[in-house]
Amino acid sequence: MSKKILVLGEVRQGELRNVSFEAITAAKKVAEGGEVVGLLLGDAGSLANQLIQYGADRVVVAENSLLNAYTPDGYTQAVMQVIEAEKPEGFILGHTSIGKDISPRIAAKLKSGLVSDVVSLEVNGDEVVFTRPIYSGKAFEKKVIKDGLIFATIRPNNISALEKDESRTADVTSVNVDIKDLRTIIKDVVRKATSGVDLSEAKIIVSGGRGVKSAEGFKVLRELADALGGAVGSSRGACDAGYSDYSLQIGQTGKVVTPDLYIACGISGAIQHVAGMSNSKVIVAINKDPEANIFSIADYGIVGDLFEVVPLLVEEFKSVAV
Ligand code: FAD
Repeated sequence: MSKKILVLGEVRQGELRNVSFEAITAAKKVAEGGEVVGLLLGDAGSLANQLIQYGADRVVVAENSLLNAYTPDGYTQAVMQVIEAEKPEGFILGHTSIGKDISPRIAAKLKSGLVSDVVSLEVNGDEVVFTRPIYSGKAFEKKVIKDGLIFATIRPNNISALEKDESRTADVTSVNVDIKDLRTIIKDVVRKATSGVDLSEAKIIVSGGRGVKSAEGFKVLRELADALGGAVGSSRGACDAGYSDYSLQIGQTGKVVTPDLYIACGISGAIQHVAGMSNSKVIVAINKDPEANIFSIADYGIVGDLFEVVPLLVEEFKSVAV
């Protein structure tokens, strides 16, 4: 049966995050020929066309200047008002910091279930079957939704966005939402300087561990990431040692990533690190210890000193790019 599915278009630094386009793909599958409605919050109407080009059938822009910066209260109130007005059968958004923050609040208010961190889905008759990792990615479980709101957050980089179709057009409607009693007021947003590629959405990640030995040692990893158009990540060992910033930590208590290519340099492969990257499509490990645990999950392993191997890779990839 065809359904109406609402999708949150998440904006970061003035641009839509790729996971929003992936959420549209998921929503289209669940909608079964029904309507996929994109939702933008705040002064983001200029981005509506992108949601349409990636498959949204209509876009609602919830306007209120209090939504220009993310606050849990503001976003929750706006989404609740749009859900009340639109009455969708489903709501899908990215499993991002914002998605993880607001989805349980909304589920609690709606007294609905929520399937979080979805990596794939299928529709079997009147059931939607979501697959999600459990036990830090060691196993997967299936959650079956038969009735009630089909509410899910999807993990970035797992469901492919549709091909962008610039010829698609659709209605864009602005609605006023009433935002009140905010417990947080954002006065200023100070961003850390990072490379342009967002770690959780990066297709290629070059990650360094304690074997990198210093903050200076990360320079060669950054060169490799730049040559490949990727992002730099790190193990907690490297963060604890002060070589890397905690915002780049990958693992059980850091970010969970699923890039196409993960290059682990000087990382032993502790279970807590592996929890955050084991679902990467291709894993390359560079470690001078042939017994290092990381080799047990790597598709390709290079036993050697990263300070010899990584510069050779940089040189090689740069020559290919030319
Ligand atoms: P090490 O284990 O010290 O490994 C360094 C590796 O570098 C070694 O294998 C060594 O052979 C290799 N090496 C050294 N020099 C070179 C060289 N020149 N060239 C090539 N290889 C070299 N860790 C995470 O990463 N993420 C998490 O989210 C996380 N959460 C945790 C949560 C809890 C509750 C706990 C208890 C721990 C957590 N940890 C996490 C820590 C984890 O257990 C490990 O201590 C950590 O991952 C080790 O980091 P590492 O691999 O960089 O360092």
